[in-house]
Amino acid sequence: MFDNLTGKLSGVIKTLRGETRLTESNIQKALREIRLALLEADVALPVIKDFIARVKEKAVGHEVMNSLTPGQALVGVVHQELISIMGREKSDINLSTVPPAVILMAGLQGAGKTTSSGKLAKWLMEQKKKKVLLVSCDIYRPAAIHQLELLAEQVNSDFFPVKPGQKPNEIATAALDYARRHHHDVMIVDTAGRLGIDDAMMQEISQLETLLQPIETLFVVDAMQGQDAVNTAKAFADALPLTGIILTKLDGDARGGAALSVQHITGKPIKFTGIAEKLTGLEAFHPDRMASRILG
Ligand code: GDP
Repeated sequence: MFDNLTGKLSGVIKTLRGETRLTESNIQKALREIRLALLEADVALPVIKDFIARVKEKAVGHEVMNSLTPGQALVGVVHQELISIMGREKSDINLSTVPPAVILMAGLQGAGKTTSSGKLAKWLMEQKKKKVLLVSCDIYRPAAIHQLELLAEQVNSDFFPVKPGQKPNEIATAALDYARRHHHDVMIVDTAGRLGIDDAMMQEISQLETLLQPIETLFVVDAMQGQDAVNTAKAFADALPLTGIILTKLDGDARGGAALSVQHITGKPIKFTGIAEKLTGLEAFHPDRMASRILG
């Protein structure tokens, strides 16, 4: 599992040969290689700095077991530390509230909010046997509302019909009433995205959050965004009480560094990953798989 990073470390590992204990001085070069590997995986710099400090703290004084080389022992510490950061909080979707449990989807345009809303509806219907209502508050792009309607048809979930001229707040209120009357267990609310962060968008989604009191506010972020994901995550985490993250497009060639960065910045767990464009392409998050991906 650690082959690749171990491969990268092979040069410095030689200098560790024969050591029975990892010390601050004998792991210095290896830590530099690990820092490089994390940079290559697109983990943001401040996150790498914090992470390396944690690894150092855990590794120094670590006894090397007979079956391992000191280098393997160090990579083992790194791997465990990645998993513990990414899996510390329970990452199950939370639906424990009086129905309808509202899930608010937040993120930039193109991150995969609408697609993930459809995928999540399918997942909740199949895995949790829930009755789901899909709602679009993206009044700025009529195509987005239609896109969600088509997804609802494909996954066989209910779709809230928006009336022309309705404002996001009006849609949200009417949809909530509709979901109560039709006994939906879950209502997934897709919101407008913009190409960049702007105040009007943040205000609008923040008002929706206050109005809907969602049990989950999920930040949808494209894994390919790499280092840029940090700024986006920070802006959304400042504006909204996020409860979790959906990391999309992991079927691309992103190394997954965004996972670590976004989690570190928001302090919220990744709950799902998008692993394909198609509607079955949503998976509950596996910290161990992500750790291996990041380490390469
Ligand atoms: P939104 O603007 O945030 O609602 O983004 P969309 O849901 O419209 O998604 C933007 C594009 O990304 C679409 O072409 C989706 O098919 C694609 N997409 C979303 N999630 C994934 C994923 O996990 N993998 C891949 N390959 N494509 C995805």
